[in-house]
Amino acid sequence: APAPPPARHLFSDPAEIEALRGNLLAWYDKCKRDLPWRTLAATEPDADRRAYAVWVSEIMLQQTQVATVIDYYNRWMQKWPTLQALAQASLEEVNELWAGLGYYSRGKRLQEAARKVVSELAGRMPRTAEDLQKLLPGVGRYTAGAIASISYGQATGVVDGNVIRVLCRLRCIGADSSSPAVIDRLWDMANALVDRSRPGDFNQALMELGATVCVPKAPLCGECPVKQHCRARRRKLFGKPAPVPDVEDCGVGGCPLCPPATEPWDSSLGVTNFPRKAAKKQPRAARTATCVLERRGCHGALEYLIVQRPSSGLLAGLWEFPSLPLAQGLQEEKQREVLADHLQAWTGRPVAAGGLRLIGEVVHIFSHIHQTYVVYSLPLDGDVTLDPALSPSRWVTEEEFHASAVSTAMKKV
Ligand code: SF4
Repeated sequence: APAPPPARHLFSDPAEIEALRGNLLAWYDKCKRDLPWRTLAATEPDADRRAYAVWVSEIMLQQTQVATVIDYYNRWMQKWPTLQALAQASLEEVNELWAGLGYYSRGKRLQEAARKVVSELAGRMPRTAEDLQKLLPGVGRYTAGAIASISYGQATGVVDGNVIRVLCRLRCIGADSSSPAVIDRLWDMANALVDRSRPGDFNQALMELGATVCVPKAPLCGECPVKQHCRARRRKLFGKPAPVPDVEDCGVGGCPLCPPATEPWDSSLGVTNFPRKAAKKQPRAARTATCVLERRGCHGALEYLIVQRPSSGLLAGLWEFPSLPLAQGLQEEKQREVLADHLQAWTGRPVAAGGLRLIGEVVHIFSHIHQTYVVYSLPLDGDVTLDPALSPSRWVTEEEFHASAVSTAMKKV
């Protein structure tokens, strides 16, 4: 078995753990932000309803800022206040409400999981973190821990980006915080620290501390309720440990949780020396030709053709203007030709490459793709018959377009 990490990276003193819990919870009670899912979780007497509210909020909050989520969350809960209501929704409705929130598979899987609870689990939510993670699609270890602790009072910890930052600073963990070895240690630590009588509040408090005080760039250490337990702060205030190692030092090299010897403590960074992450991979560059086809509808209003994307992969099931991935380095003339060929299939009539008007380029950054849309437009006259054998497609007015399940990237286009 690997050697346990040195004491300076652990919480081993029960009195210190007790003090940290007390300080953090007292701060949370006084300073927490009012958020709609918190209000519901605190006031709803039915545990399954609480769990549903926490679940929806946690899925929306993955990769998305709180300020953006609030409006989506309120609209969602108004439309589908219970798991049973969500189970009856169509994927199209889910995508429409999710439009603009990004990472669309989250909404889809939330709805699939709701259906599963209703059809296979007799409408009852699993009540422990282990079962939630095992039985519900799209529910990972973090979300399972959040639902189980906040809604069902299970004394189980959570580790998200905020918790990683706080714990790495509290215990001077400078090894790559995205590595499985470090993540495992952080889960152990979160499970050991969580308050046994108020686990949900404790977990929310730790995350709240990371979101509002122990923030990535300029943490407010002076206002921090756990500053007396923070080893990064101590290191910043009192400098490097003495050259003669004491019980708290790791010695030179070989510690699995210390910063790598090649990137030691940088005193200009202070507590923000922690956490450390391996360099992110650069997003892949991709180019896509997209064409806004327009016609006059029967009431004289302009209408635009949108087509549905496949049901799996990026932006699954969302609607977009007819689009075509382009090979790198393709000349403009060639781009027009391939796009014109592609459009013929939808419109059922010849499309001349020269008739396509180049509008400009739109850049959208997905998490792993730097996507450039080369945007063309093409007005069409008269009746256009769409081939029903191709992907689903429909004509929409501008208003209908904005109410459809379309991505933010398409709205930019
Ligand atoms: Fe974070 Fe500073 Fe508090 Fe340490 S003292 S936990 S670095 S805010």
